[in-house]
Amino acid sequence: MIIKNVSLETVCGITSKLPETDKPEIAFAGKSNVGKSSLINGLMNRKALARTSSSPGKTQTINFYNINDQMYLVDLPGYGYAKVSKSEQEKWGKMIERYLHGSKQLKAVFLLIDIRHDPSANDRMMYDWINHQGFRPIIIATKLDKIKRSQLQKQVKLIRTGLGMPAQAPVLPYSALTKQGREEIWEYMEQFINE
Ligand code: GDP
Repeated sequence: MIIKNVSLETVCGITSKLPETDKPEIAFAGKSNVGKSSLINGLMNRKALARTSSSPGKTQTINFYNINDQMYLVDLPGYGYAKVSKSEQEKWGKMIERYLHGSKQLKAVFLLIDIRHDPSANDRMMYDWINHQGFRPIIIATKLDKIKRSQLQKQVKLIRTGLGMPAQAPVLPYSALTKQGREEIWEYMEQFINE
């Protein structure tokens, strides 16, 4: 996709009403610090529209980015954020559930996993949960530049096994530093948008 214009159109807090959009939506989930904001900025060709973990005042919200008036990229709140209490996390769980369950335009959910690490219990829970909501999560393995090329297959296998993924399901490696993997991710997104 050629990015012509992007804007952060809607920001939903915990009690916000979720928007009913009229364009396809693609959502991104992952634990805090996995590189979700960096990926979203990279996909949109923006340096800092999505706020990264290190930016002060980053709060838990669901953000809807309008891309070219063609689609929405939906940034779900990162889980496992140390500063957020358990009860707050549970509220967000309900909010995300409401979104995954309620959106009429949601076409696909991408789940981000750090390529260096075994999926955590939270990652597995999120993976199972997305499946349970009727979506087949597409896995993006982030921070590709942090491993040696020779480790790639092994790390991808760890993610597959850790999540219990079916054999054919894709794992898309991505580096926010080099943008390697960006085109493949857009190709997947476009397939869902055009479905
Ligand atoms: P978020 O909390 O999931 O939105 O994660 P961020 O996008 O804020 O990234 C967390 C940290 O990891 C930041 O310091 C980023 O600069 C760094 N980071 C994110 N993606 C990559 C990547 O692909 N490569 C490297 N080397 N660092 C990354």
